[in-house]
Amino acid sequence: MTSLSKIPCSNLYGVGAQLAEKLQKLDIHSVQDLLFHLPYRYEDRTRVTPLIAVKPGNHVMVEGVVREVEVRFNRRRSLLCCLEDESGGSIVLRFFHFVKAQQDMLSRKGTRIRCFGEVRWGTSSGYEMVHPEYRQIKLHDPLPIDNHLTPIYPTTEGIHQTGFRKLTDQALALLKKSEGLEEYLPLPIRQMHALSDVTQAICYVHRPPPDASRAQLEAGLHVHQQRLAFEELLAHQLSLRKLRTNLQQNRAAALARPSLLTKKFLANLHFSLTDAQQRVAKEVSCDLTQAVPMLRLVQGDVGSGKTVVAALAALQAIENGYQVALMAPTELLSEQHLQNFKRWMEPLNIKTVLLSGNLKATERREVIESIENGEAKMVIGTHALFQKTVNFHRLALVIIDEQHRFGVHQRLSLREKGKEGNIYPHQMIMTATPIPRTLAMTAYADLDYSVIDQLPPGRKPVTTLLVSNTRRDEVVERISYACQSGQQTYWVCTLIEESEMLQCEAAEVTAERLREQLPNLNIGLVHGRLKAQEKEMIMQQFRAGALNLLVATTVIEVGVDVPNASLMVIENAERLGLAQLHQLRGRVGRGTVASHCVLMYQNPLSDLAKKRLHVMKSTQDGFVIAQEDLVLRGPGEVLGTRQAGLMQMRTANLVRDKMLLPKVQQVSEVLLENHPECIDPLIHRWIGQAQKYGEA
Ligand code: ADP
Ligand code: MG
Repeated sequence: MTSLSKIPCSNLYGVGAQLAEKLQKLDIHSVQDLLFHLPYRYEDRTRVTPLIAVKPGNHVMVEGVVREVEVRFNRRRSLLCCLEDESGGSIVLRFFHFVKAQQDMLSRKGTRIRCFGEVRWGTSSGYEMVHPEYRQIKLHDPLPIDNHLTPIYPTTEGIHQTGFRKLTDQALALLKKSEGLEEYLPLPIRQMHALSDVTQAICYVHRPPPDASRAQLEAGLHVHQQRLAFEELLAHQLSLRKLRTNLQQNRAAALARPSLLTKKFLANLHFSLTDAQQRVAKEVSCDLTQAVPMLRLVQGDVGSGKTVVAALAALQAIENGYQVALMAPTELLSEQHLQNFKRWMEPLNIKTVLLSGNLKATERREVIESIENGEAKMVIGTHALFQKTVNFHRLALVIIDEQHRFGVHQRLSLREKGKEGNIYPHQMIMTATPIPRTLAMTAYADLDYSVIDQLPPGRKPVTTLLVSNTRRDEVVERISYACQSGQQTYWVCTLIEESEMLQCEAAEVTAERLREQLPNLNIGLVHGRLKAQEKEMIMQQFRAGALNLLVATTVIEVGVDVPNASLMVIENAERLGLAQLHQLRGRVGRGTVASHCVLMYQNPLSDLAKKRLHVMKSTQDGFVIAQEDLVLRGPGEVLGTRQAGLMQMRTANLVRDKMLLPKVQQVSEVLLENHPECIDPLIHRWIGQAQKYGEA
């Protein structure tokens, strides 16, 4: 018997070249692929609900007789059709698009119809359904009722739900005739973790029986769904592990342990490292001594001091005669890194350069030359670093700051650039997104993972206030007071528009207005459309204390570090997500005075915005905030672009199924050890072509 993974969809009835192509877009090639294309919700057409019992929000099937019909010409022409049934209830069907034949049929009083749709509150009184599916029922010729819940599939243009159902009907029929799907999870493992049989699970989720709990199914908690979620998580885990094994086939420069330069560097530093910094620096240093490329994620909340840890890693490479590249997501941040690294490296005679997008032609040529001839040992830049014209010289370490801002391709192309033969640079990836450990071990199973779980001593908590923008004047007054007593303030402008130009203009207007209101203060403005030098000059002035107030767009979101700034106002904070608010707020609370963050909002607030603002007010713990963010936005968004391709799950959900993660890790070890033959087919079944993305 041919395995279902070997039977192409084009063997199915009704699948021509055109449909086959559309299915391919959904990564569906074989009958097995079709079976693993899972419904994401269900509708219940297994019973007719009496009209008296319907409630708003229900998706229900109802049946009744047309009592009244009218065409209204209010703002939009609509056909209203009032339906009644034997229960004594009634409902209005509302159609905006209708043709004459429809109107005629629906207008015949006494016509009996069955429809399916969502019940809502009507505009006038009672309930209505907008554009329900409907069919006429001829007397003595009742329509059949479905004997299972109706699956709703993720689809693409040109394939309707009914089409999908016909295809999956055929695929399920083939499955029933076959010996079943390959079971890759050995029986003892299934017994230990109470996992159901894969063939049964697949049949169930495609066609749940009428007595299935729709609530449970939609929550993804049915035992058969959990079985599939488990297998999917396992496939992801294994595919990341495989990526890691592949990478470890490569070689890297083995860098001897740090010595003289590092000692000098630490002696010049005006603070001593926290225990957490020391521990992580040691983990990194240890990796670097190996001839296998390091791939380590260093996670540390905003302000935990990741930059010095990066500098220590850089020194180890430089001490061994190699070059280091540090990539930051914004010009502003790369400028700031340049300042820090120059201050740290120049006393040690290490040439540090910045390659940014807006250097003058001659400067740019000089910088590129010094990178190429190896004179520049420490190279800092934005994504300008991986342009074609840049050639590194003995690049042994690549550091990526704030990785969530970069795509996997950007990170990997920098690695490729540094490659000589099969010698790859080591990679250190820094992120401020704190996620639970089991989740990190799943999402980042291809990376080693270190956490800087401690802030430098002496940090004062930031008090967060929620203030309606009707009280803007009070806020301005407070700034005036704070600045006069020597504090410095950020005023962050946000704008919903994507356009950078509009954002900048809005910030300009705000700065003007504040200058009028606060004539005694020195007010600077920084936004994305200023030239790099202008930006840097203003940041320099702010850092030096020459500016009391800095009006900024969200360009200051990541990395900016001015310890004397202790007050931040975020305008229209309701527009920003939790991660962004946390990053922004992390700009204050870095010095020794107590800091405040004013989240100014505009009413009315959506429920989601309210939740976010309250989370921000109630905690400053990045870990808690990330947890909330995971719930509110889902893991794909929170983990950043890197995981976007890999974390798109069919049925599993990293947050909902977090209970499964430790078991998944355990089982993946068992499979790697004892059943290596199952690994590729499992990955193929769940991830298919998407795996290529991970390897790219
Ligand atoms: P982040 O982890 O957000 O990138 P930074 O590396 O920018 O944090 O560090 C934040 C601030 O804390 C900087 O001003 C830095 O000089 C300071 N800092 C870092 N480590 C320590 C330490 N061990 N003791 C005191 N201050 C520190
Ligand atoms: Mg940083």
